[in-house]
Amino acid sequence: MRKLLIAGNWKMNCGPYDAAELLEGLISQKSEVDENVDVLVCPPFVSIGMAVKYLYDTDIQVGAQNIHFEENGAYTGEISGSMLAESGCNYVIVGHSERRQYFGETDETVNKRVKKSLEHKLAPIVCVGESLDQRKSDTHHEVVENQIKAALEHVSNSEILDVVIAYEPIWAIGTGETASPEQAQEMHKHIRNILTNLYGDEAAEAINILYGGSMKPANARDLLDQKDVDGGLIGGASLDAESFSEIINIAEDLV
Ligand code: PEP
Repeated sequence: MRKLLIAGNWKMNCGPYDAAELLEGLISQKSEVDENVDVLVCPPFVSIGMAVKYLYDTDIQVGAQNIHFEENGAYTGEISGSMLAESGCNYVIVGHSERRQYFGETDETVNKRVKKSLEHKLAPIVCVGESLDQRKSDTHHEVVENQIKAALEHVSNSEILDVVIAYEPIWAIGTGETASPEQAQEMHKHIRNILTNLYGDEAAEAINILYGGSMKPANARDLLDQKDVDGGLIGGASLDAESFSEIINIAEDLV
């Protein structure tokens, strides 16, 4: 049975001081988590150390929001996989739509980052999702399929078991608009079918497919209750300890 994964993406919010405050709030509500639910926070790079320190003795893990695809060297401003692993991360978000949209991330660089994450035993959370125009023109299935195939190029049958996919329709990120549970389930099933074609049934059944896009306590239960929705990648609501804990409680209730 797949565990549920509840992952908070703090985006460009919370330097070390604000991170400490948010983490204190989170720990006071939720330091122990059901064994069938994984919980993760992904702070900005400068607050990873603070998160690792605060969460050391809890069931909450720490991830990063990006990784560079080279090992080290003259790449000013970038962070490598070995740095993230050494800092205590065990997950990393790769190919978030904001990085594709604002920072020139392409399918090719997403694939390189996925490969580098796996090399460093960091589980990549690979973000895919269509724009509103693509959904309106009914090309969303094809868009997502192409993104997944490109992101997973040269990922082996054993490596794929450490990969997490996050379906994040761009029109639902930070907009307050959410995919309906039916829309989410339909796309997650499509994604699982793509994974079956690429890696076989057993692997596809084992892979976590998260939903992301304005998930909050009010809609989390209906989304997480869908058969192929295995958790959430949560932006806005992860910045509020109470909302994020509430979503974790809902996940615990469903497993
Ligand atoms: C995200 O950052 O991946 C996200 C889904 O954001 P929000 O929950 O704010 O829509």
